[in-house]
Amino acid sequence: MTRREAPWPATLGYLIALQVSCQMPPTDGPSVVLHHGKILTLDPDFRIAEAVAIEGERVLAVGANDDILALAGRETTLVDLEGQTVVPGFADNHYHSIGGGPGVDLSSARTLDDVLLAIGERAKNTPPDTVIVTNSDWHEGQLVEQRLPYRDDLDKATTDHPVVVVRGGHEYVLNTAALNEWSIDETTRAPEGGSLGRYPDGRLNGELVDQAKRFVELPPHLSAGANYQPESLRLEHQRLNEAGLTSVRYASGNKELYHALSELKRRGDLTLRVSVLFRIQPSVDLDGLDKVIAAWGVGPDDGDAWLRVGGIKLGVDGGFEGGWMREPYQEPWGDNGRYYGLQTFPTERYVELVRALNQRGWRVATHAVGDAAMDLVLDAYGKANQDRSIVGRRFVVEHGFIADHDQLPRLKELGVAVSGQHHLYLAGPSLVKYWGTERAHRVTPMRTYLDAGIPVSLGSDSPVVPYRPLWVLYHFITRDTISAGVMGEQQRITREEALRAMSLGYAHLTFEEQLKGSIEPGKLADLVVLPEDVLTCPPERIRDMEVSMTIVGGEIVHGRPAE
Ligand SMILES: [Zn+2]
Repeated sequence: MTRREAPWPATLGYLIALQVSCQMPPTDGPSVVLHHGKILTLDPDFRIAEAVAIEGERVLAVGANDDILALAGRETTLVDLEGQTVVPGFADNHYHSIGGGPGVDLSSARTLDDVLLAIGERAKNTPPDTVIVTNSDWHEGQLVEQRLPYRDDLDKATTDHPVVVVRGGHEYVLNTAALNEWSIDETTRAPEGGSLGRYPDGRLNGELVDQAKRFVELPPHLSAGANYQPESLRLEHQRLNEAGLTSVRYASGNKELYHALSELKRRGDLTLRVSVLFRIQPSVDLDGLDKVIAAWGVGPDDGDAWLRVGGIKLGVDGGFEGGWMREPYQEPWGDNGRYYGLQTFPTERYVELVRALNQRGWRVATHAVGDAAMDLVLDAYGKANQDRSIVGRRFVVEHGFIADHDQLPRLKELGVAVSGQHHLYLAGPSLVKYWGTERAHRVTPMRTYLDAGIPVSLGSDSPVVPYRPLWVLYHFITRDTISAGVMGEQQRITREEALRAMSLGYAHLTFEEQLKGSIEPGKLADLVVLPEDVLTCPPERIRDMEVSMTIVGGEIVHGRPAE
C-alpha cells in the first residue's frame, strides 16, 4: 500500500519543538503536552478537550489549552497539534501477523491472471520440483472473477513445481504436481473436520480445507507466521505503530512467540502492548492438557501492561468456506442441503477441555464463525459455568460472524465478550456465494451485539484481512466493502461506538479498562493523532487518512522527526 504524506507533519517539517519557557516554569512539569487540538477523551462524560499533558507513561491532565499549557516546564516537549484530533490508541483484538512473507505475494492481484502470472514468475526462478508457496494475505474477493484459482488454473502457471496457494488461515489450493507430491488422489478421503474440493465432474480441484491441510507439509522457511524472531517482531510492530496501533492481541500464540515478545520487553524494545492467546490444537485431549500447558511456562494471569497472557484459544469451526451453520450453505456449496460447514473440534473433547481449563483458572477464547459453532461454544461455556462461574472472567467468542437472537441472552448471561473483525469488508462477495445474501449481510452483527449489551471489541484477523485499524473503523461505521458496496447497513454502529469498541472494548477484553482505552488522568498515555476529526469528516476520509503520530506509554513511536 502506498503511504500518502499526511498534510502534517510532513509539510511543516519537524512538529515537535522542545521549547524552553521563560516565565518561572516549574522545574519538571509534564514530559509532553499536546495542545491546540481536539482531544476525544472517550471518558464516561465524553469530553472534547483542547490539550493533554503526559507525565512519564501516563496522562497527567486533560483540558483547555491555557490550563494545560500552564503546567509545562523547562523539560516539557510541546506539540502544537494545529487543530488535529487525538483519540485513544487503536487496538487490534485478533491479530496473527502483519502479512507478507517469503512466499509469492498475491496481495495486489486483481485478476486470476495476476495470480498465475505471479506464480509463473516465481517458477522461472525456482529449480524444478521445488515447492512454491504463496503468502496467505489475499482473498479471491479481491479478484474480478471472484473465485479461487483451482488445480487446472495453477497447472497453467507451472507443471514442474508443486504449488501450494495459501489463502487465509483455512485453505490451500494445490496444482497437480503438489497433489502428487503429497500423494493425494481421487481415492484419498478427507479427515474429520476437513474437506477436499472437487470439480462438478468429481475430479479433485486442488482445494484442501481446514483439517485436510494436514496432508501438506510446507517447507518451514516458507510457512507464514513461523518467524518469531525478536528483531522481525520489532520491525513489524513499527509498521503497526504507523497505522496507529498501540495494543495488539495475538490470536494464536505459542511459546516461541511469547518468548520472543518477552525478549523484546526485556530489551525495552516493545512499542506495542501485547496480549497473547495460547493455541491448543484439536489433537490435544484431557490427558495431554497439563503437559501442553506446563510446556508454555506461563500462568493464566501472568504479565503486565506490556506483555500479558490473554488466555487459551480453541477453534470449533472453519472460516469463510467452513463456518459451521445451523442452516445449509447456499447451492451449489450446500451440496443439496447437506453441507453446513465444518466442525473442526470434536464436541465431547471440546466441552471437556473448556471445563478443565476453567477449573484450572484459564480463560477460553473460541474461534466460532457460524451460528452452529456458537451453539457449541455456548453449550460448553454453560457447562463450565456450572462447575465454576465464568461470569466476570470474560470468556470470548472470536469472530462471531453469525449470531441468532436466541443466542444473545445466553452470551450476555455468561458475560461472554465477542471479538469482531472486518472480514466482510474484504470477503463480502464470497460470503454471499457461500451463505446467500440474507445471511452474508448479517455478518459480524455489531449493532445487534451492542444493542444486546454484549461487550464487543474490534480488530482485523491480519493477515487474513489487512490490519489497518482505520479500515476496521470505516467498515463498522459504514458497512461498506471493497468490491460489493454497503452490506447490511442496519448493522452500522456510530463513530463514537466504533472508537469505544476499538479502545475501551479492547481494554475490557484484557481486563485493563482501568489502565487504558480512554484519555483520562492516571491512564496510560497511549494516543493517536489524526489529521482530521473522525467524528465529523466525510466517512471515506476515515478509510483514507494517514495517522500523524502514535504515542505509546508517553513515548512517540511514530511521527517523530528523523534524528
Ligand atoms: Zn484468526
